[in-house]
Amino acid sequence: MLNGKVALVTGGGRGIGREIALTLAEKGAFVVVNYRGSEEKAKETVEAIRHAGGTAVSYGCNVADFTDCGEMIKNLIEEYGHIDILVNNAGITKDSLLMQMSEEAFDSVVDVNLKGCFNTMRHLSRQLLKQKGGKIINISSVSGILGNPGQANYCASKAGIIGLTKSAARELGSRGITVNAVAPGLIETEMTKGLSENARKTLEEKILLKRSGTAREVAEAVAFLASDAAGYITGQVIAVDGGMAV
Ligand code: NDP
Repeated sequence: MLNGKVALVTGGGRGIGREIALTLAEKGAFVVVNYRGSEEKAKETVEAIRHAGGTAVSYGCNVADFTDCGEMIKNLIEEYGHIDILVNNAGITKDSLLMQMSEEAFDSVVDVNLKGCFNTMRHLSRQLLKQKGGKIINISSVSGILGNPGQANYCASKAGIIGLTKSAARELGSRGITVNAVAPGLIETEMTKGLSENARKTLEEKILLKRSGTAREVAEAVAFLASDAAGYITGQVIAVDGGMAV
């Protein structure tokens, strides 16, 4: 279903990004697994994809760096001719209450989560316009819809992604390019490993399905949006949250 497509997944070496990379590859895409710090994990993900009969390469780049993102996109287009699917998945948290939050904690989270999306989209959009097609999927969060105490920086970045997604969808739609966001709820990864039992219980009580989600469940929604089956869907925010934000 994604045969012949080139997909770039930022932060694809571990967590939700790894599962997105595996799922897109399973469906036939050639996947570029971007990483920043986790080179080994990105290589393992590439190996897992190849082992399953798919094709992939890893590529190191800090998505928060405008110039480096430009280089990455340029090099990938030179090497593979086109990029058809961009999944902006890379993200970090630096939680604290607003009145204690450092400027660095705010800036760095916004730089990776929000500006990272801008950086890749900014550098890829000209190519997508030339191609007269492409799919951009940005990973937001239920926190960007609801807000969350202790995560003002993270929620601001994830809400910002929704505005960026809708604006880009409006700018690029006439050329057949779709831009959507996926807003996961509570998903079991390294990012949520640190949650106390109490915090987890409180969160799970708010989830209609009474359980946390899996990275695969997020990846399946991303793969759908990346496919032609979702050809008439753009500017949307699809919550994969067990009904948490209803
Ligand atoms: P993880 O902490 O498990 O993984 C984060 C990923 O982001 C890693 O692959 C990491 O790569 C990458 N990354 C971080 N900074 C950069 C950077 N500067 N440049 C490139 N890559 C970077 O998190 P999750 O898998 O849980 O989260 C994935 C996405 O889903 C994030 O955007 C997160 O906000 C979102 N999300 C997660 C939820 C959850 O419950 N887990 C809920 C809602 C949204 P590396 O190690 O190489 O730096």
